[in-house]
Amino acid sequence: MNRLKDKKVIITGASKGIGKGIAKVFAKEGAHVLLVGRNEQALKKVVSEISHDKGIAQYYVGDVSNESDMNGMVDKAIHDFGGIDIMCINAGIYPQHWLGQMTLAQWNQVISTNLTSVFLATNACLPFMKKQKHGQIVITSSISGPKTGLPGFAHYTASKAGITGFIKTAAIELAKHNIRVNAVEPGIIMTEGVAEVGGDYGENQKKAVPLGELGTPEDVAYAALFLASDEAKFITGQTLVVDGGQVLPESLFMPFNAENENF
Ligand code: NAP
Repeated sequence: MNRLKDKKVIITGASKGIGKGIAKVFAKEGAHVLLVGRNEQALKKVVSEISHDKGIAQYYVGDVSNESDMNGMVDKAIHDFGGIDIMCINAGIYPQHWLGQMTLAQWNQVISTNLTSVFLATNACLPFMKKQKHGQIVITSSISGPKTGLPGFAHYTASKAGITGFIKTAAIELAKHNIRVNAVEPGIIMTEGVAEVGGDYGENQKKAVPLGELGTPEDVAYAALFLASDEAKFITGQTLVVDGGQVLPESLFMPFNAENENF
């Protein structure tokens, strides 16, 4: 408890899924959290759940691909909380489009929501973080792109692989300001977004996870908590995989959940 006592935190994409999990875990650890998303009703609901548990939360309605919204988000954190210590850039989308059919608009929407947003949110919080001479930036990337390929998601995997390059350079540029930049790389995590994919997607994905379960938003949140906390004060420009071992098998034919006594 209190690993983030009185830290001022912004979390994008906190109206549901992993971002909501990060918001709840960080608030429980004493942080003041500003939740960002486009769905005001959903944001209000998460704020009231956190307040009900005696946490401190506010919300800001904004689109992460919009520069003035990202600046407004930081202004709101400074106005409501008096500053910003930790920026969690988490919002993202993962629609499936196949190469040859994917339109430029579809490509651009994924890149601007998942990757340009990282640049915009970072830029927006830098003036304040540089002035106070400290800050943590924690980005929700993915194993898809940095570690693996995923058919139907060339735009998504490109956006997440782009984050890997971004954090390495940002970490070097910002080190002299005592600002650390790291990312979590989740495997398959059961969220509202994944549920929307429908069918047996979630159940089927379990078969690819050696630990035999899908991850939860809290599993990712605790990894983000470590990277955001002072315990990680000597870690920058790095990524932390949170995937139950999903990227480890060297073959698709590994029956983790089959009735094989060796598994
Ligand atoms: P989710 O359940 O669909 O939630 C996505 C969140 O992002 C929502 O809060 C949504 O809020 C917000 N969002 C989307 N577009 C936005 C925009 N243009 N402006 C502001 N907010 C926006 O998704 P999730 O599964 O939690 O994924 C969250 C992050 O984790 C993403 O970056 C995703 O790529 C990454 N990830 C997820 C998994 C997984 O298996 N779930 C695995 C690896 C990585 P509003 O609807 O209110 O705008």
